[in-house]
Amino acid sequence: MKIYLSADIEGITGIADWAEADLSKPDNAEFRERMTAEVVAACEGALAAGASEILVKDAHWTGRNLLAERLPRQATLWRGWSGHPYSMVQGLDRSFAAALFVGWHSGGAKGGNPLAHTLSSGSLLGIRVNGQWVSEYQLHAWTAALEGVPVAFVSGDADLCAEVQAMDTGATAVDTMRGHGAAVQSRHPAESRERIREGVRQALAPLRARPARLAESFEVQVVRKDARDAYRRAFYPGARLVDPVTIGFTTRDWFEVMRLLQFVCG
Ligand SMILES: [Zn+2]
Repeated sequence: MKIYLSADIEGITGIADWAEADLSKPDNAEFRERMTAEVVAACEGALAAGASEILVKDAHWTGRNLLAERLPRQATLWRGWSGHPYSMVQGLDRSFAAALFVGWHSGGAKGGNPLAHTLSSGSLLGIRVNGQWVSEYQLHAWTAALEGVPVAFVSGDADLCAEVQAMDTGATAVDTMRGHGAAVQSRHPAESRERIREGVRQALAPLRARPARLAESFEVQVVRKDARDAYRRAFYPGARLVDPVTIGFTTRDWFEVMRLLQFVCG
């Protein structure tokens, strides 16, 4: 059984400030360690459930956060960013039985996490699909669905976990903390690790989750913070300016949405 694991940091237990998510800042050291420990816990749960291979995508910021020496030998590690439209799930294909998202977070224009954002915290307010603000979880659950792969497990903030349940795919969600404005109340890190390990094991043996359901068509709105940036990026083929900060795009093909996002979000 091949398992895909995508790791972010803004939903790792207790993280509350951008300095803690930034590899170049001393505050990051504790959270880089904890991110690695939560990924290791998820790998242990997957191996206990019968996984033979795990592809781990380091999907936060530089893509260079995880401490490779700590991962089990059955894991291979994908670091950095290529620009492929699959973004945080690059390398995922039909050969994988399931995907696991560890350390994920609430989306832009929502509360639930002091570091809430969708794809870009600096330049975007958020992204709407068919009228709803979406998180990175939804974007990549739909991307995994293009390959027929279910997201079987998600860990992160409590609001994100509620969103995972609302998608109704049978995925297991483990909350590590709850956001209150710029503050968080988090579990003990050891408690989070135990819940992640057990949650992954139970999510995979037996595998209950189904691939997310893709809509017939997609009305996408990328809402930027700066009108000058929105104007320039609205020249992406097929895109249009909906209002001074909003880039609109309509398609029936989810891959085209992910391709668009590679070019209009940065
Ligand atoms: Zn991140």
